[in-house]
Amino acid sequence: MLKQTPIAELSSVADRGFVRVRLAPSPTGTLHIGTARTAVFNWLFARHQGGRFLLRIEDTDRERSRPEFTANILDGLRWLGLDWDDEPVIQSERIEAHRNAIRQLLDQGLAYRCYASEDELASMREHQQANHQAPRYDNRHRQLSIEQVQAYTAEGREAVIRFRIDDNATITWNDLIRGPMQWAGSDLGGDMVIARRAPADRIGDPLYNLVVVVDDVFMAISHVIRGEDHIANTAKQLLLYQALGVTAPQFAHTPLILNQEGKKLSKRDGVTSISDFKDLGYTQAALVNYMTLLGWSPPEGMGERFGLEEAARVFDFDRVNKAGARFDWDKLNWLNGQVLHELPPSELRQQLLPLWQAEGWAGDGPTADPDWQSNLCTLLGPSLTKLVDGVGQATAFFLTPSPDDQALAQLAQPGAAAGLAAVLERIPADELTAPMAQQILAEATTAAGIKKGLLMKSLRAALLGSLQGPDLAESWLLLHRSGADRPRLVEALAAAPSP
Ligand code: GLU
Repeated sequence: MLKQTPIAELSSVADRGFVRVRLAPSPTGTLHIGTARTAVFNWLFARHQGGRFLLRIEDTDRERSRPEFTANILDGLRWLGLDWDDEPVIQSERIEAHRNAIRQLLDQGLAYRCYASEDELASMREHQQANHQAPRYDNRHRQLSIEQVQAYTAEGREAVIRFRIDDNATITWNDLIRGPMQWAGSDLGGDMVIARRAPADRIGDPLYNLVVVVDDVFMAISHVIRGEDHIANTAKQLLLYQALGVTAPQFAHTPLILNQEGKKLSKRDGVTSISDFKDLGYTQAALVNYMTLLGWSPPEGMGERFGLEEAARVFDFDRVNKAGARFDWDKLNWLNGQVLHELPPSELRQQLLPLWQAEGWAGDGPTADPDWQSNLCTLLGPSLTKLVDGVGQATAFFLTPSPDDQALAQLAQPGAAAGLAAVLERIPADELTAPMAQQILAEATTAAGIKKGLLMKSLRAALLGSLQGPDLAESWLLLHRSGADRPRLVEALAAAPSP
C-alpha cells in the first residue's frame, strides 16, 4: 500500500531531479489511441530519464467507470509493452485525501460553499447569453454574510464548493513542448466547482481538477505529460497547487491526434481503441512504433522503423511537434508490413497459429506440422501487410480452393490439360525437392508440347485456384508435403473440358 502523505508535507520532487510521470486514464471506455499515445510519450520520457512511469485509474465518475474498462486499459498497455512501475493508484480509494484538501481550502478561505440553485445558475447564463457575454459563474456567493448562509441552510439548500479564482491573476508556465504559456484568471469561467452539490454540512464528491492535483502531489509526480486538450485545466490546476502550498510539477502538452480531415480523432472515426487495431491484425511493434511517430520526429539518421527501447534512448520534448498529428493509415500499414517481414518465420507462425486455429485449420494431419507451418510463413511473410492477411493468403494451403473465373479460363486453354496430366504422372510418391520440381516442369513442357508459361499458369490455377499468389514452386512443395498437390491436379483434370 502507498503511504498517504499530508499534502502540506510534500514539496515538489521536480526540484530534486527525480522523474516520476503518470498516465491517468478514466475507465469509462476501452484504451483509446490518444491515451495510448500519451502513455507512449510518458513511458519514453520516464525510461529516457531513468525515472518512473506510474498509473492512476481515475474512476471517480461512478456511473460511467467500469472494471472491464480498467482491465481493457491495463491489458492494452501491457500488450503494447508499456510496463509501469508500482501498483496503479486507484483514485476512488483516495476520496478522504481529496476531502481533506478541500477542508484545508475551506479553512483558509480559499474555497467556499455556493448555494446557487441549478435554476438560478441557468437564468444567470441566459442573461449572459442575451448580453452577448461569455458564460461564466459570476462569483455571486463568494462573499455571503453569515445571515445569508443561515437563510440558505434554513431553506435546506444544498451547496457545491467553489475555489476562488482571481480574475486579475495571470497564470504562466513554461510548457516543455509548447514553450511559455499564459492564461488570464478572467478566462477560467469564474470560481471553479471542486466538490459536487451536497447537503451544506457535507463535502460532496470532489471533482477532476482538485482530485488530479491532490493525487499528483501524493504520487510525487515531477512531470505531467498529457494531451493539449488539458491546457485550460493546467491553468486551473496551477492555481490549486499554489493555494495548497505545494510546488507544481512541470507540464508538457502533447499535440492532438487528428483524422484525415484534420479534426480531432474521435469515436466517429471508427477504429480508435487499441483492441480494435489488434483485432485488425496490427502488431504491437508496428502500433507502438507508429504512435511514437504521432507527434515526435526521430533524430536524423534513425529512420522511422524502431523499437520502444531504441526510441527511449533518444526521446526528448524538443522533437515533439506543437501542431496536431494527422493519423496516416498508409504509414501504419507500411510499418506493420515491415514488422511482419522482419519476423523470423517461427515467430510469425506463433502469431498466426491462433488465427488459423480459429478457422479450424492446422489442428491435425500434415498441416499441423510446425515445420510445415513455418515454411508456409516463410512463403507468405514477405507479402503480408496485416497479420490477418496471413489468414486470407493461407486459405489455399489449408482448404481446396474453388478456382476463380480467371483460373477456370486458364484451365480451359488448349494444351493446359495435357501439361497438367504430364505433371501428374511425374509427381513422386515421396519427397519432392525444388530441383525435382524444376525437372518435372521441364519434362512436362516437352511431353505436352506446350510453352512453359502456359504450364506454369495452369499449374498455379490447378493448385491454388487463382492466377495470383506466392511463388509457384515453393507453393507446390508445401502442397506436396501436405499431400494436396495430386488430388488438386486430379480434380482440375476432371473438370477440364475434354480435348
Ligand atoms: N483522467 C483524465 C483523462 O483521461 C486525466 C487527465 C490528466 O492526465 O490529468 O483525460
